[in-house]
Amino acid sequence: MRPLLLFGSSVFVVVLLLLCRPCFPARILAGSAASVIQSDSPPGDHDKDVSHNATWQDFARFLDAGVGAHMAGMSELKRYFTRFGYLSLSDSGNLTDVFDRSLESALVKYQTNLGLAVTGKLDAGTITAIMSPRCGVRDDIEGQVVPGHHALLKATRHYAYFYGRPRWTRGSPATLTYAFSPNHMIRYIGPGEVRAVFQRAFSRWSAVIPVSFKEVEEYAKADIRIGFYGGDHGDGEPFDGVLGVLAHAFSPENGRFHLDAAERWSVDFKAERSKAAVDLESVATHEIGHVLGLAHSSVKEAVMYPSLSPRTRKVELRIDDVEGVQALYGSNPNFKLSSLFESENSSNLGGLGLRDIRQSSMWATASSAAVVLVILLCV
Ligand SMILES: [Zn+2]
Ligand SMILES: [Zn+2]
Repeated sequence: MRPLLLFGSSVFVVVLLLLCRPCFPARILAGSAASVIQSDSPPGDHDKDVSHNATWQDFARFLDAGVGAHMAGMSELKRYFTRFGYLSLSDSGNLTDVFDRSLESALVKYQTNLGLAVTGKLDAGTITAIMSPRCGVRDDIEGQVVPGHHALLKATRHYAYFYGRPRWTRGSPATLTYAFSPNHMIRYIGPGEVRAVFQRAFSRWSAVIPVSFKEVEEYAKADIRIGFYGGDHGDGEPFDGVLGVLAHAFSPENGRFHLDAAERWSVDFKAERSKAAVDLESVATHEIGHVLGLAHSSVKEAVMYPSLSPRTRKVELRIDDVEGVQALYGSNPNFKLSSLFESENSSNLGGLGLRDIRQSSMWATASSAAVVLVILLCV
């Protein structure tokens, strides 16, 4: 009887530990760029190219730091918030290593803009978001934020624009031309494939607004000029190597559209095994939104959300993206917003329902196991 009791107690402790596991911060932090992609891709030669942005990954050690904390390297975090528009240089305490009130208010703004829990603290969700690869365009450039509420979806929308709400002024319907830089392309993806990716990305936007896009040969004369650039490339916004900042584009009617040449761009995750691979079509679709005049959205599912994990595809425009761009250009007469409402509503409900069922069944199974063990111990 005694060995059985001992065995029963050990299993019970293991089950209890398993039940408590979701409380550990380390598990929540596993959502960082490197960890997310490790689970998606088999180990192999590509492991070595996950040389993600070292400075951003280093922010993990600030987990749970609060006002008054003094930690070496906190100035880098302030630099990050200054770069993306949350902290002005005059407010940043000369970029000291002290967690001061200005950093706290920057955090509150960041959490609000990225749709995170607004705690003013460096909690796990916030640290994970800060470390995620993202677009290089600042988050504070909107001239107008339009939070809304739709009776059908019960979702708030937070699309935004650049200061002054600039747009292309070509009359309607308009045609914008685009061209690829003859000197700044990547070699490991064929030019035909790159062109097809951009054609699809542009067509998603032209399907919803009365603006069409046409590829032309002459780069210098094109409205939208696309190229892959490495490091400092002369526009004051240097790229930073693998992951970190992925791309940036300028507001209307500038037309510059730059992608970081150091990324491992992918057009097909089945063929591209790198854990740091970034979906070219997803980033192209996002940057076209900037070219048209949209700034970043706080709706996580929107194409205009600022960050994108490696090996993730996000190419479908959501209601937030569509309403934002249609407020600038009007609607394509062939597009019906109601069909998007219906599909988004049903997919949201389906997703939530499935997740709830899975979670409750997991907990039910674990709870039943614990009850069985308790009964065994009592026998
Ligand atoms: Zn962006
Ligand atoms: Zn640039």
